[in-house]
Amino acid sequence: MWYFYSTNLSMTMGNISSILEQSSFSHSDLEQLLQYEGDEKLLLFRKGGDVKEMFVGNKVYFRGLIEFSNVCDKDCYYCGIRRSNLSVRRYNLTDSEILDAARFADENKFGSVVLQSGENSSQTFADRIGNLITQIKQLSNGRLGITLSVGEQTELVYRRWFEAGAHRYLLRIETTNPLLYRKIHPNDRLHNFSNRLDCLHSLKAIGYQTGTGVMIGLPFQTVSDLANDLLFFQQFGIDMVGMGPYIEHSETPLYAFRHELLPIQERFDLSLKMIAVLRILMKDINIAAATALQAIDPLGREKGIKVGANIIMPNITPGLYRNDYSLYENKPCVDEEPAQCKGCLDARIALANGEIGYGEWGDSIHFVNSKKKG
Ligand code: SAM
Repeated sequence: MWYFYSTNLSMTMGNISSILEQSSFSHSDLEQLLQYEGDEKLLLFRKGGDVKEMFVGNKVYFRGLIEFSNVCDKDCYYCGIRRSNLSVRRYNLTDSEILDAARFADENKFGSVVLQSGENSSQTFADRIGNLITQIKQLSNGRLGITLSVGEQTELVYRRWFEAGAHRYLLRIETTNPLLYRKIHPNDRLHNFSNRLDCLHSLKAIGYQTGTGVMIGLPFQTVSDLANDLLFFQQFGIDMVGMGPYIEHSETPLYAFRHELLPIQERFDLSLKMIAVLRILMKDINIAAATALQAIDPLGREKGIKVGANIIMPNITPGLYRNDYSLYENKPCVDEEPAQCKGCLDARIALANGEIGYGEWGDSIHFVNSKKKG
């Protein structure tokens, strides 16, 4: 059972056009937009693409994704690398493997890298990331922008990494409904909704370009939840969003609810609608076309770009380890080496009428504008 409102929306194109012309959107407008099908849905997608072209242009920026470790202290009910999944082969790249991947990104003019891993809040981890940031800046002569996505940390640690040179941070809130958050995480100190929210506030206060996101199509999630997620992004003044479909993993507790999920193709479609609506709502932010889109549709990320996304995170983790960072099933490109991955993306972005911003950071215009406003 999917928890969408069962309203039969027999709306005309006139309805959607008038909503799309508005300069602000209520919760109920957003709910409606997320439920359009057929021609109205196509109109929504086209509008998302048009708004993107008008406000951030047709450039797509790369963030070379280095999934450097799947060792995780957390036990999220949806995630394949959760601590309790004993069948995962745990890995931790060496510093020199991470630096090689960063060098690859620099030499291939990716502009930026993302360091992502399972969660670890030890001092050793904080020191290691701090050193890696310094070394990545050194090896690229300051050229590479650095995004971190290594979970919840203390404000002190976030500040230290910012001072070392990281300037963007991605921490998905996963869902902004605290009750749903409770259902998809263990109820303990390590999985606390308010703490995750506090982390986002700290990151913003420190001066990071702050990114968050949600999973789309979770069990127990409603369209009203998703509309609230969009309003949260707007009210928070988020600079970047990475959101994508929830994809079940057989070795996680949420797998028990797989029969209640929206069919996979509908989750994919809903994710595209979320991207298009978010682009219309927050015109100048950076929106990533999540890898999970491509796990469902071979052209998933390109479709995300067409309806409003402007960031792609090509996986540049050495091929040997890719299989072991399996958050969900059917993860794409796990058997490719980074060089193959790049060649493939050139062609893919051209297909989506995009142009790759080689060698550029592609910072969030929203961030730059809000700094100017002070
Ligand atoms: N540990 C860091 C954190 O918590 O932010 C980063 C790594 S975490 C594995 C990256 C993201 O993967 C999560 O924020 C979550 O949204 C996503 N993810 C995990 N399991 C997923 C699933 N089954 N389907 C879709 N996305 C999933």
